[in-house]
Amino acid sequence: MFDKILIANRGEIALRVIRAAREMGIQSVAVHSTADSDAMHVRMADEAICIGPPSATQSYLSIPAIISACEITGAQAIHPGYGFLSENAAFVQIVEDHDLTFIGPTAEHIRVMGDKITAKETMRKLGVPCVPGSEGGVDTLEDALKIGEEFGYPVIIKATAGGGGKGMKVARSADEMKSAFQTARAEGKSNFGNSDVYIEKYLTTPRHIEIQVFGDGKGRAVHLGERDCSLQRRHQKVFEEAPGPAIDAATRARIGKICADAMADINYIGAGTIEFLFEDGEFYFIEMNTRLQVEHPVTEGVFGVDLVREQIRVAAGLPMSFTQDDLQVQGHAIEVRINAEKLPNFSPCPGKITQFHAPGGLGVRMDSALYDGYSIPPYYDSLIAKLIVQGRDRPEALARLHRALGELIVDGIDTTIPLFRDLLREEAIQTGDYNIHWLEKWLAETYP
Ligand code: ADP
Repeated sequence: MFDKILIANRGEIALRVIRAAREMGIQSVAVHSTADSDAMHVRMADEAICIGPPSATQSYLSIPAIISACEITGAQAIHPGYGFLSENAAFVQIVEDHDLTFIGPTAEHIRVMGDKITAKETMRKLGVPCVPGSEGGVDTLEDALKIGEEFGYPVIIKATAGGGGKGMKVARSADEMKSAFQTARAEGKSNFGNSDVYIEKYLTTPRHIEIQVFGDGKGRAVHLGERDCSLQRRHQKVFEEAPGPAIDAATRARIGKICADAMADINYIGAGTIEFLFEDGEFYFIEMNTRLQVEHPVTEGVFGVDLVREQIRVAAGLPMSFTQDDLQVQGHAIEVRINAEKLPNFSPCPGKITQFHAPGGLGVRMDSALYDGYSIPPYYDSLIAKLIVQGRDRPEALARLHRALGELIVDGIDTTIPLFRDLLREEAIQTGDYNIHWLEKWLAETYP
């Protein structure tokens, strides 16, 4: 096992990894930009090292700075968290070239799954059901129009390198295709340096269901059920739960096995998430994330496992500490993402926290790097806290979420906390009867 690991990230996810390391008796090294000198992850780690100025490209994304930090501190492995360098295959290669261990999948798996066209082809060959659409990339408007005809509108044009909801455009008719095709290509080019796009049938009432998978890199892999992340704004998740309100045990076992078998086939190592749209009882693969997800705590809650501990174990060459039979869903967990944003426009709202009180009690988990007097810098993601609640069943989890939101105090800045208080009053949230378009529609009506 490693003696010391470096966490190439910040905020709540850096804390999450430090906590797992500490429980395993592993020393942790935090890295930080000059804007984060007072950040909680810097205070909580065993050692901290400044790696550059506020701009992420010169700090959290600076590969030479991070490798140097490992060399200076003697860290043997790097946990990338999510975002930043977590899905950067070139980074993984460099880490390995320096005789360090990347706590995550291989560069090759990251590369394959990071290109959505290749990912889809790979998954289809592995027997995973995919959204109907173009076979591979679509280079010209003429071809795009042909595919629109063939599959019928609406269709969605997606940048192969896309992520975070960028590089996706819906075309509802041949007329709309022209601008949608050009925009998706342009967004792919400007955000990800790659203008290649592909086309899929646009599903009108699906749920977003994702399967947590985990592999040991030696041909063994398991699934840890699903998360329903259908409540989205601008294709970004806002509220996640496990198990999915629309998924029964037989469905979970069926799709879970398909995913676990696919990961065993490719010798996948570490945590991964296979994302699907789910409509009329059918699953359609959309993409795979080769890293820990923001919403992993709901899975940890219902399966009673520590996914970060497990990532560190398999990276160190140890076997997984559970088998598929050990993994049984217990109860229900919900996560809400709290952002430093001002409603109704969700405009970023960094600034100084004048008062902070985290909720507690049975079944409440708060993953956050906030503290009284902390100043949220304006340079990074606006996620400031994840409130995760757990109950014996969905109604109990919802009641607990309501209670915990009542206890939570974040003063000094605007946050999305009121959004969740409002959401909990909704019938569709209480019954779990929502799809990927529900939240946008509700937001338009509630915060006009
Ligand atoms: P990103 O990598 O940007 O997160 P994804 O491919 O994971 O993009 O899609 C994000 C979200 O976009 C999905 O959760 C869903 O809400 C919507 N979406 C993607 N593909 C489709 C589709 N074929 N039909 C309808 N909605 C889609």
